[in-house]
Amino acid sequence: MTQANFSKPFTQQEAIPEAGIERAVEIMKSGRLHRYNLTANEESEASCLEMEYAKWQGTNYCLACTSGGYAIQLALRVCGAKPGDKILANAYTLAPVPGAIHNVGAIPILVDIDENYHIDLEDLEAKAATSGSKFLLLSHMRGHIADMDKVVEICTTYGICLIEDCAHTMGAKWRGVRSGNFGMVAAFSTQTYKHMNSGEGGFLTTNDAEIAARAVISSGSYMLYGRHGAIPVEEVFQKVRLHSPNYSGRMDQMRAAMLRAQLPVLEENVYRWNSLYDTLHARLATMEGIIIPTRKQEEFYVGSSIQFRADVLPKEKISAFVDSCSARGVELKWFGDDQPKAFTSRYDSWKYIDDLPILPTTLRVLEKTLDMRVPLTFTTEDCKLITDIIKDEIERFAKS
Ligand SMILES: *Cc1c(COP(=O)(O)O)cnc(C)c1O
Repeated sequence: MTQANFSKPFTQQEAIPEAGIERAVEIMKSGRLHRYNLTANEESEASCLEMEYAKWQGTNYCLACTSGGYAIQLALRVCGAKPGDKILANAYTLAPVPGAIHNVGAIPILVDIDENYHIDLEDLEAKAATSGSKFLLLSHMRGHIADMDKVVEICTTYGICLIEDCAHTMGAKWRGVRSGNFGMVAAFSTQTYKHMNSGEGGFLTTNDAEIAARAVISSGSYMLYGRHGAIPVEEVFQKVRLHSPNYSGRMDQMRAAMLRAQLPVLEENVYRWNSLYDTLHARLATMEGIIIPTRKQEEFYVGSSIQFRADVLPKEKISAFVDSCSARGVELKWFGDDQPKAFTSRYDSWKYIDDLPILPTTLRVLEKTLDMRVPLTFTTEDCKLITDIIKDEIERFAKS
C-alpha cells in the first residue's frame, strides 16, 4: 500500500532537440516556410527529411505530408480505392482510420480482433473470401503487430492490396523487418503523441514507383515534384502527372526541420520507451486480476503505451476505478466505455458506418481494456509509483 500520489502529466513530451529549434527559427526568419519556396540551389528541408526517412525506413520512396490520417487517405486513393469499394480494416483502431475510408467514399468491412489485440486471421480470411474487397487497411493498433507472414499470405491469396497504418509502430519490427515494409504502402504519423513530434504531420512510404509519383503529385506538388528527394525517375511522373488530382496536404519546412532533428535519436528513444514499458509490464504482470496481452516472439515493439485488462473488475466498476486512479494522478483510458471519451474509440460508436457488424471478441476484449501513455518524460521510478497506485486501487475495487 502506497500513500503517495503521482504528479507528472501523461501528456508531457520532451522538447524538440536544440538543432531543430535553431533550424526552425532560421526558417521563420527567412520567411521561406513553404517546401517549394527555395532560393537557387537551396535544398528543401522537407525533401531532405523524406530522403532521410526513406533511408531509415528502408523504402525507396517517401512523402512527408500534413498528418497520419491524410497519409492513410492518400494511400487508399493512390492504391486505387474508389467510392463504394470495400476496405477491410481491423475494428480495434483509432477514429482517423474509418474516417479516412469514409473520406474516400469507400465502405469499411470491419474485422474482429483476437485476445491479444491483433486482427483475427480467421475472420480476415473469411471476409477476404466473401466480401470481394481488394484492400486491407491494417492498423498496428497500439503497436501490437499481428502475424505478418499470415496476413501477407492471406492478402496474396485473395489479391488484396495491403496498406499499413504504422501510427504506433514507427521503429517496430516483425522478424527484423520494419513495420511498414509488408504492404504496398505504409502511413506514419508525426502528431505530438506518436514517436516523432511535429505537432501534426505524417509520412507515406512505398517501393512502388507509380504509386509514389501519384502520391507526390496528389499531395499538392503542382509541377514542382522534381524538388522532392525520395522519388522515382521523371518518366514515371510523365505517365501520371496529368491524371493525379491535387489533394493539397504538403508538409512545411518548419515541421520538417523539427523532424530532421528527431530522426537521429529515434532509435535511442525506442529503447528508452521499451525500458519504461518493460518496467511497467513486469510489475503489472505480477498483479492478480490483470491480463496483459501476449506479444509474439517475432515482434520487436515500441512501448510508447501499455494496455491491460482489469479482469477482476466487473464492467460497472471500471469507470470508478479509472476515476480513482486519476484522482491519484494516474491517467488511464478505458476503451470499453459506452461513450467514447478523449482518444478512446470503440468501433460501434462510429454511427456513420452503415450496418455495423457485431464483433464479439473486439467488444469483449475492449470491455475491460485500459490504456496508458508512456511519455519519455517519465522515469523508471515514476513507472514503479504508477504501478503501485494501480495495484492499490485494483485491490481496493476488487474487494469492494
Ligand atoms: C494518430 C493515429 C492516426 C492518425 O494520425 P494523425 O497524424 O493524428 O492524423 C491513425 N491511426 C492511428 C492508429 C493513430 O493512432
